[in-house]
Amino acid sequence: MQINGNGAYLKIENLWKYFGNFLALEDITLEIEEGELICFLGPSGCGKTTLLRAIAGLNLQSQGTITQGGRDISKLPPSERDFGIVFQSYALFPNLTIEKNVAYGLENTGRSKSEIAARVSELLSLVGLSEQSKKYPAQLSGGQQQRIALARAIATNPGLLLLDEPLSALDAKVRVHLRHEIKELQRKLGVTTVMVTHDQEEALAMADRIVVMNQGVIEQVGSPTEIYRDPQSLFVADFIGEMNQIPATAVSKDQVRLGSGVMDCTPHGFGDGEQIIAAIRPNDVIPHGDSAHSLGRDDIVETEANAIDVKVGEMEFLGSFWRCRLSHEVFGANDLFADFSINAVRRLDLQEGSNM
Ligand code: ATP
Repeated sequence: MQINGNGAYLKIENLWKYFGNFLALEDITLEIEEGELICFLGPSGCGKTTLLRAIAGLNLQSQGTITQGGRDISKLPPSERDFGIVFQSYALFPNLTIEKNVAYGLENTGRSKSEIAARVSELLSLVGLSEQSKKYPAQLSGGQQQRIALARAIATNPGLLLLDEPLSALDAKVRVHLRHEIKELQRKLGVTTVMVTHDQEEALAMADRIVVMNQGVIEQVGSPTEIYRDPQSLFVADFIGEMNQIPATAVSKDQVRLGSGVMDCTPHGFGDGEQIIAAIRPNDVIPHGDSAHSLGRDDIVETEANAIDVKVGEMEFLGSFWRCRLSHEVFGANDLFADFSINAVRRLDLQEGSNM
């Protein structure tokens, strides 16, 4: 709950973390609003788990402050902080039944036995596992065990829910299913949630805002659409989704030259004539003669100037679209990958070796 009545619910200010001489987090400042679902996203070793553990007090920062609901928690042990946590490995007690696992955190909170039983039953029904209450963790699937871990983490109505790669041990289908469930539950409870993941799709699908991290620093914070459509660095552009990187020349603040074509692009701060790298999503490339409107992309204006003639190289069928390798001398060694719909490929009779 918010105590101070103004400002963010969770504030991390100028936080540094060293492990010996190794700098794991460098001057992290971040504000998280009450009720938000935030994903820390980045490659292995970028420091996302270290930051989550600092919020939990599981490892103390070397410098910097953390406040939660207006309370300075920077130096408090985990037991005096207000959070529930779910780990990748479920971390359930194997010798306790499901209901005892969920009841565990409620036992020293002054609640009566009947209050605890009622809360456990409410939580099991919330995660859809009421029928399993007498079973032991080993008798449940990975996805079910993770739902129990979630029920246990929210049992005491913590102000903050911390999720450390909660889905990465599960197989792909269960992962997609459970991510919807977690998001729905988070919305229903309105609990401020921080989740660590290295899975871009998971972060895009679940987060209100994504914190992209790289080598101990925050590269960018933004909504999934901001991060995807308007990456502020080559690292973010490359890390989130598929991205071509093509040498180009800045023309004006929202155009770049690629060979004979002048392409519209998101606004940038480069001066006219500056050599830059243009980051182009494969699904932003549209075949000649295919209207952007028909692809539902009214933001792409197809004009002669916005076009370039290319040769089609390898074509890879990826189920719902074709990924085509396009070459042109201005692309240099980096060919341009484009995702074309099955209809477009059929209509334009595109084949390896076609000119378009
Ligand atoms: P992953 O996705 O692989 O878990 P991560 O982004 O969560 O990666 P962290 O676990 O936060 O990364 O680790 C950040 C860096 O700090 C890594 O280089 C790691 O080796 C180092 N590190 C983490 N914990 C310790 C520790 N206890 N002692 C020394 N170095 C550590």
